[in-house]
Amino acid sequence: MHDDSASTGGGLVERVYTTLKMLSLLPERLSEDQLEEIVAILPSGNVDAARFMLSPSRWESSRTSLLSILTWLEEARNAKEEGRKVILVPFNFPPEIIHAFASASPVTSEVLTTLATQMLASGGEEYWDYAMGLGLPDHLCSGNTIELASILAGSDLVPDAIISAAPGGCDVNAKIHEFVSRRIGVPQLLLEKPVYASNSRRGREIYFKSFRRLVGDLEEITGETLKEESLRRVAVKANQASQLYGDLWELYKRIPCPLPSASALLIYGMRFSMWGRDEALESLDNILQLSLRNSRDAEYNSREEVARMFWVYLPFYFEGYLFSEWLEANGVTNIGDALLLFYPQAIDTTSRDTMLRGFAESAWNMGMTRQMGAESISLQWSEDIIAAVKELHVDFAVYCGHHSCKQTWSAFSILRNEVRKRAGVPVLCLQGDSWMGKVMPMSAILDEMTMFLHNVVIPARERREDTHE
Ligand code: SF4
Repeated sequence: MHDDSASTGGGLVERVYTTLKMLSLLPERLSEDQLEEIVAILPSGNVDAARFMLSPSRWESSRTSLLSILTWLEEARNAKEEGRKVILVPFNFPPEIIHAFASASPVTSEVLTTLATQMLASGGEEYWDYAMGLGLPDHLCSGNTIELASILAGSDLVPDAIISAAPGGCDVNAKIHEFVSRRIGVPQLLLEKPVYASNSRRGREIYFKSFRRLVGDLEEITGETLKEESLRRVAVKANQASQLYGDLWELYKRIPCPLPSASALLIYGMRFSMWGRDEALESLDNILQLSLRNSRDAEYNSREEVARMFWVYLPFYFEGYLFSEWLEANGVTNIGDALLLFYPQAIDTTSRDTMLRGFAESAWNMGMTRQMGAESISLQWSEDIIAAVKELHVDFAVYCGHHSCKQTWSAFSILRNEVRKRAGVPVLCLQGDSWMGKVMPMSAILDEMTMFLHNVVIPARERREDTHE
């Protein structure tokens, strides 16, 4: 494998790890003075992002999750030295299965890309440019290509196997994982979603067989037979995490929403990395306690929510501080996005078979697989979004128009009509890349959102209020 790491400034995992390690040294509570002292020594390109990430309220809600991610990365970095295998998984695969193996550690392509987008001054775009330099097509998904290009450049953590759970859900995701596994010469393990309706018994059985075969492949790669008690250990913790998720979901329904800003990203960040582990429980519990505190705070509750928004698929992950300022200035609450809709269910821990079935069920319900791998994308996607926007009292929704998402683009106009007709919620259509500002910059995104808010959302809300008076 080539070592082109100089052209990308080093491996993505190592760079993100170094930043997280530095953040972990900061105290639990940061005063405004301490924040300014930290910001004063940072390069100018990082100042706004650091001020945003380390603001007292945000730091309080995100610190536990960042420490959990640090542990996740540390385990993967140390894996080879400690005789464990690193398994690269996509975001639509339940990582708790890998955590059940004593001899394996998971890393998740899209989580790593998102961390780079948020933590590196460059946002990780040099890895994308490296992929383009190799001649790969620009309609790939930046969400996985950024991390995978870092592996291709030769300086990143090299996995021992790559799981691809995208066949049947997303072609570009499936193809880039396949390309990387061939290029670096590591096995690819497939979990294919058959095109059957969600209530099809036959579809579930085929998927479960494929899931069980994949577990067998993992046993072969790690040389470890997955014991029933190991599965139970992660299943019990996954069930506890699902309960916390249920409590948080109930709080999301309250007006004003008591969850700290950006909680959705932290919640599904845990789902895609540390589910089945104590660290995920601590992270979710921290968000729950802060939300309960907010819900009891009179001053917090006197805030007016001008509008509540929801992303019908992905949000934008870059320049979150500008987006956050926009939310605050306009009194808008960002409830979250479709990745929050992973429908956790209690896993029956009776036997190895019931647990494997439960994990296969979670994989079937993960974002993207559930909607984009459905018998009818438009139907399943619309059903899920309509149920969410109704339950969460959403006033408007946004489609970010991620350029590589051919499946969502193909069904978007149907989704928009259905959400409008059946939930009364208008949907704004944008055309940007979730992980890279060079396709549509944040300033242009916010201009479009401001116009939509003032010309569509607020007048609709006023009309509704007039009718009820
Ligand atoms: S469905 Fe869209 S966001 Fe998900 S992996 Fe595919 S292209 Fe990327």
